Amino acid sequence: VNVQKDSNLMHLVHVTAEMAPIAKVGGLGDVVTGLARACLSRGHKVDIMLPFYECIQKQQINELALITTYNSYHDGNWVPTNAYRGMVSGIPVIFIEPSSHFFKGQYVYGGSYNELEAYLFFSRACLEWMQVTGTQPDIIHVHEWQTGALPMLYWDMYHQLSLQKPRIVLTIHNMEHYGECSKEQLSKCGLDGSIYATVDKSLDDRTIGHNPERLSLLKGGIVYSNTIVTVSPTYLKETLCSGWLSSTLIRNRDKYCGILNGIDTAMWNPATDVFLPARFHAQKTEGKKICKYFVQRGLGLPSGGITAGNHAPLVVCITRLVAQKGLHLITHAIKHVEELGGQMIVLGKASDGRVEREFEGLANLHNEGPSIRILLMYSEELSHMLYAAADMVLVPSIYEPCGLAQMIGMRYGAVPVVRKTGGLADTVFDIDDLSQPEIANGFVFEGIDEGSLNCALDRSFSYYQEKPNEWNGIVRKVMEIDNSWNNTAGKYIDVYKSIRVRW
Ligand code: ADP
Repeated sequence: VNVQKDSNLMHLVHVTAEMAPIAKVGGLGDVVTGLARACLSRGHKVDIMLPFYECIQKQQINELALITTYNSYHDGNWVPTNAYRGMVSGIPVIFIEPSSHFFKGQYVYGGSYNELEAYLFFSRACLEWMQVTGTQPDIIHVHEWQTGALPMLYWDMYHQLSLQKPRIVLTIHNMEHYGECSKEQLSKCGLDGSIYATVDKSLDDRTIGHNPERLSLLKGGIVYSNTIVTVSPTYLKETLCSGWLSSTLIRNRDKYCGILNGIDTAMWNPATDVFLPARFHAQKTEGKKICKYFVQRGLGLPSGGITAGNHAPLVVCITRLVAQKGLHLITHAIKHVEELGGQMIVLGKASDGRVEREFEGLANLHNEGPSIRILLMYSEELSHMLYAAADMVLVPSIYEPCGLAQMIGMRYGAVPVVRKTGGLADTVFDIDDLSQPEIANGFVFEGIDEGSLNCALDRSFSYYQEKPNEWNGIVRKVMEIDNSWNNTAGKYIDVYKSIRVRW
């Protein structure tokens, strides 16, 4: 691939709670890695700063070395902290490891420590590291509520100390996670919480008259960042029109923009993917049939073989099992795909016990049968295999800031069936919408009711079964769509540059 090299090279530092593949829970991890890699290959200097979670597998880090031992403030104490440097899939990472109990445990999230306080600590520890090492990037790029305190800390303290050069970009991947925080908690990172407890700063507007104590780290991040980005143009519009942050975003409209996420095509490439039993690309799709056969055999689903007609369409749904993802539509799809004579595999992890039990019940009901498999786990490897095996990828989200599953699915030749919301509306265009045949690439429904979903699934099944040539054409077409970061990272570079010009 011919990657454009930029002029005016910058030093960009991402401060983030996730990074794929070593500390990934959802799309945030993919986005940080993909964007960082794309900016690196355009010639910029890029570092990712990440908490050194105990659950990170050290063998996935190359050249790991302790680089700095320093103290960072938390709740009246200076906490001895180590910074390590290492390379993760070709990207430089700085790992922040406090000597406290923060970031210990089996998983990225949900440890037995106070998460809010841990990320307040982390946000400050990253700035403190820059201060003690004299590191002055052009841009500090923060993500989500976890790092929302960093812009406040920067302008309040570190910019008054020695950090003059950096400017701050905040990307919001999901507005629903707001980083609820009391004044006292905010004060633990060294800010004066009572100063920030006003509507124009980080006080949560919804709580006026109810709870003037409740602050939001995400809102503080919005107010104090130089630019705010969200992850698709449609989600940008949705968040300006409704939702708890809309008034804040409207007030900050001139520094708010929507940039569609890309996918990391080094990590997601069916032509080179080491997790697949056979590789393929748009001009040579036989390997995809082998992947489908392999998955069907592996999971005990009936298969028509590799060469004979393999007529049952295989639908996959790979997602965190949370309300946002349209849980009732996923469970309904399981029933409807079975009725239609198709096969469906759900790969999902629930964080809520009730949801987990519901899907366990469904797994017990179906997993011995001939058409449905429900796999309640997180598996990067299996996800690659399922995208490659799938005829269709289902994304029935209630809201979806950007959504990567539909883009990854398309690259692996799975035709998307999606609800028209957020980034799904920016990346999937209905085959039967005759007004824009050049970009048509999937099946889209609008309602959140089961009938709307049925209609899209029925149409996709009838294409698959009755118009095989057209179907194969759609499969090739979706594989050729360029949703890569190579294509979209330039928009972020433009944002970074325009900040440097304005401030
Ligand atoms: P979100 O960020 O809301 O989770 P996205 O669609 O933006 O949703 O990104 C989801 C990412 O996480 C995709 O890379 C998807 O393949 C992956 N993913 C979600 N659930 C699982 C799972 N159970 N196992 C493996 N990968 C998963």
